[in-house]
Amino acid sequence: MPAPISHELLGQVLAEDIVSDIDMPPFDKSLMDGFAVRSADLPEGKAVLAVAEEVTAGQTPKRQVQPGQATKIMTGAPIPAGADAVVMIERSKPGTNGRVEIDDRPPRPGQNVMPRGREMRKGEVVLSAGTELRPQEFGTLAAVGKTTIAVIPRPRVAILCTGDEIVDASQQPKPGQIRNGNGPMLQAQVARAGAIPQYLGIARDRVEELRTRIKEGLQSDLLVLSGGVSAGKLDLVPGVLQELSVQAHFHKVEMKPGKPVFFGTQERTLVFGLPGNPVSALACFELFVRPAIRQLAGHAKSGPFFVEATLAEDFVYKTDRPTYYPSWLEWEGKGYQVRPVPWFGSPDLRALTRANAFLFVATGEHQLPAGQLVTVMKTDDES
Ligand code: AMP
Ligand code: MG
Repeated sequence: MPAPISHELLGQVLAEDIVSDIDMPPFDKSLMDGFAVRSADLPEGKAVLAVAEEVTAGQTPKRQVQPGQATKIMTGAPIPAGADAVVMIERSKPGTNGRVEIDDRPPRPGQNVMPRGREMRKGEVVLSAGTELRPQEFGTLAAVGKTTIAVIPRPRVAILCTGDEIVDASQQPKPGQIRNGNGPMLQAQVARAGAIPQYLGIARDRVEELRTRIKEGLQSDLLVLSGGVSAGKLDLVPGVLQELSVQAHFHKVEMKPGKPVFFGTQERTLVFGLPGNPVSALACFELFVRPAIRQLAGHAKSGPFFVEATLAEDFVYKTDRPTYYPSWLEWEGKGYQVRPVPWFGSPDLRALTRANAFLFVATGEHQLPAGQLVTVMKTDDES
């Protein structure tokens, strides 16, 4: 889909090859402020040369550099005919009668000159389809004169929270009620993953209401549901999904937190049912939903992204399921170090405000010493 070049496309993926319409640089170009010389004139590096003219960036040289001459030249200006090297200004001093005294090592032909077409040639593919757009890609697109490009559109992700007990953040919860943390959290996760959140609000645990709202969500590329997917009396989501011809691919994963997680498809729409507990919802999103979004958005590497780290302190833990334990991951000079944060289970979202990663712990009883190599799932980009 053609889109005007804008920083709003940051992180999106190119859907076309980009061909340069020019040689870059378009002319032999000086890389220094200094003097364009004939290298053969300076076999010893030392010489007194007549200055033919001065050329700044944006000007074109008018004179050929003759034997015994030099042209004063600024960074980015075209090299005059006759010259084949640039001596930096710091290696020169003004001589008498408009001459210049050069005192350098003998210049090598091509010194401080970027030849025409060194960076790219006219007609060359400079960016190929599948490339993620970062700041350097925007600069390159502009350099080859592109003002619109074809990109893979950001996936549209519907988010529906479910639960009789869930109330909006603006409300004072009554006994038994709980504020909707997952709504804002999942919208932010969708945006961070590079997709467009389409928030559908909170549905009560009623089959009819769920059916209407889920149908609406199935119009998007991807539907994320929060709550109602485990084995409780009012966990109605899997039944409603089945009724709406969503084909289940998995339901329940041997993991902690997040065991009840559901994944299905209906035609081209991907459907993820995340458990309502906020830590489960966040972890399952990072493990399953974010990689799916990145695939739809055309990224070659979709994640989840794991790194190896050493434990910063002893860690004693017993678990009956493979566990993603909230942790703080940091680069410590030689490698990653990880420190599990205090965590009181899947409702304890506050623990995640002190975490930026999940330490992976296999099923079993562990007494891991500080310095032990472990596997960690990264969730934040910038830490
Ligand atoms: P469920 O997956 O529906 O069984 O919910 C599991 C737990 O997560 C319950 O304690 C819910 O109250 C809680 N929960 C469900 N949805 C949300 C939400 N949107 N925000 C915060 N907590 C929630
Ligand atoms: Mg519920």
